[in-house]
Formats: sequence, structure tokens, C-alpha cells
Amino acid sequence: MKTHVITADPERYEESCLSGAADLLKAGELVAFPTETVYGLGADGTNDSAVKKIFEAKGRPQNNPLILHFSNVSECSEFAECDDRFYALADAFMPGPLTVVLPSKGICAPSVTAGLDSVAVRVPVHPVARSLIKACGKPIAAPSANLSGRPSPTTADHVIKDLDGKVGIIVDGGACTVGLESTIVKLDKDKATLLRPGGITLEMLKAVLGEVAVAPEVLSPPEPGAVPLSPGMLLKHYSPKAPLYLVRSEKHEKRAEFFRKSALCGENAVICFEGDAPASKNVFYLGTREDEAEHARRLFDLLRLADEGGAKRIYAPMPSGDGIGLALQNRMLRAAAFRIKDI
Ligand code: AMP
Ligand code: MG
Repeated sequence: MKTHVITADPERYEESCLSGAADLLKAGELVAFPTETVYGLGADGTNDSAVKKIFEAKGRPQNNPLILHFSNVSECSEFAECDDRFYALADAFMPGPLTVVLPSKGICAPSVTAGLDSVAVRVPVHPVARSLIKACGKPIAAPSANLSGRPSPTTADHVIKDLDGKVGIIVDGGACTVGLESTIVKLDKDKATLLRPGGITLEMLKAVLGEVAVAPEVLSPPEPGAVPLSPGMLLKHYSPKAPLYLVRSEKHEKRAEFFRKSALCGENAVICFEGDAPASKNVFYLGTREDEAEHARRLFDLLRLADEGGAKRIYAPMPSGDGIGLALQNRMLRAAAFRIKDI
């Protein structure tokens, strides 16, 4: 299949430039498109054979459900049982980087929910994503537009590297502004559970819902032999090819010294904060130490760049765990298959 790339600058695109992509979706084919979190690999969420192509293109296990993307909150209730807690979350955070898992009305394509009786719904805030969903006229089922297990794509270039020839159109809408996948919260009758941390933080969810449980898998590896609920709960996910080690230390200066020394060996790639180690072709900066939102935007790109430089091993700092740091920690622990280096 020949892959076409079309450009839709979020600041100044014409909606008509998306009509070819919308037609392709309506015809049951795949389109990769930008969202504020990461690029998505989309298919018409009501067409089961179209949705199956997503699993095939990514090499994604069939038993892992997908998120349904809508252009408006009001459309979610056609597919999911939306209660007051959902609407309270929607008022606060939608459109935006939040996915809510609700009881399914069984209307979407069965492969979307992988046979579960719940469905995950999200309304992205990215204008190009919303225009595309609106033009398609159906909710779009979409996971991240990468090969399963690889770092998620935050630019169209990442999508091309993973999926060239496997997708009809890639819509290039620039770099993603959040850079990590959406927050996922599951609403059961009597409780709310954070399944995946993201740009909408645990603290923000608690401000609306009160109590929010955190799924144990968020920061722990799965029990040996356990069947994970989703790929993001596996021991290893979002991974570069070279082994990643998360460097943890009480003292920032000690960690910076470790990065500086490690960067002297050309076989290492070092992902660190500005000022930690001098610029070099194997040193990649997350941004200033305090700016975790910037670390989130850059993380997946840096993991790919470190690989492309041919690194034998990659070192990166263990994130804080507060605010968006919880999402960073969740992704980086998996990317590192829980390898932590205490110094
Ligand atoms: P992504 O990997 O970004 O495509 O996000 C899809 C993730 O959403 C899955 O891996 C699950 O963690 C979550 N998800 C989607 N649908 C459901 C569902 N019905 N129940 C629980 N989690 C879901
Ligand atoms: Mg993914």
C-alpha cells in the first residue's frame, strides 16, 4: 500500500484538506492522525473489519481494547452509559487528554472493546482530530500509531518510520502538545479507578470525583503469570530497542555526575536535564529539571533518537511521581522494563 502524507497545520488548515482522509475512513481503511496526546491509528469504530486492520497493522494483541474518539461529548452517550460522574469529568476536562471507561451499549464494532462489556470514550481537543472525526461522521477507534511495544509516536515522522506502507493516509498536524497517551479512568458503579496516568493528573481527577483508586499496575510490574488488562500494564512497553535504565538518587548532583561520566562512553545514550551533561551526540535533553510537562512532550522522541544513534544502553532519570510525573514514571518504568539503577 502506498502511504500518502497530508499536512494540516492546526493553526491554519482548511477542513476540506481532510476530506480524502475522511473518505478513506468511511471506506473502511486506516488513517493516522494527530491528537494532543500522541498520533492515533484510526478506523471507523462501527466497522469491525476496519477495526481489525488496526490490530494487524500494529501487531497489537486482539484482546486489547481500543479507545473510541468522538468530536463532541454529546455523542458519547450513544455508545456508552454516561452517568453524572462522566458529565462532571466532561465539564472539567473534555475535550482533552482524558479517556473514561463506561458500560458499553454494545453498538460499536466488537473488536473495539475486545469482547468486554465496557467501552473507553474520549473527545480529543486537537482541532485536526475533531475535524476528521466530524467529517467521518462516526466515532474513530484508535490506539497509538506505532508498532506495538515501541515508543508512542509524537510526530508524523515517527508514524512514517513505524507504519509506512501499512496505512493509506498519515495526517501531519505537527508535534503533539502533551506527548503521553491519555489519562484513563474507569467508572464502576461504586468506585473510580485510574488505569493509566496522563496529562489529566490524579490530583485533577480527585478534585472532581473525590476518591479515585489507582490500579496497582500503574507503578508495579504485573504479578508473574497474571493476564494484564491492557498492553500499557505489561512489564515492558513503550520501549526503545536498547535497554533503558532509570537512574534514581536522593541527590540531583550525584545523578548529574553519573550522567556526565556515562556520556563519556560512546556506547551509552544519556537522556538527562539541561546542565546535567555537556552537549554531545549521545546526550539528549528532556528540558529543564522542573518542567515535567516538557519532559512528557519530549520523552518518546528522545527514546527513538537514542536508538537511532545506535546506543547499546540508555540512561534516563527516574521521574518525580507527582502531577504529570506520575504518567512519566508509569511510561518510563515500562520502557525500562522496571530496570532501576540506584546510585
Ligand atoms: P491505547 O493503548 O493508547 O490505544 O489505549 C487503549 C487502552 O485503553 C487499553 O490498552 C486499555 O488500557 C484502555 N481501555 C480501552 N478500552 C477499555 C475497556 N473497555 N476497559 C478497560 N480499559 C480499556
Ligand atoms: Mg499505544
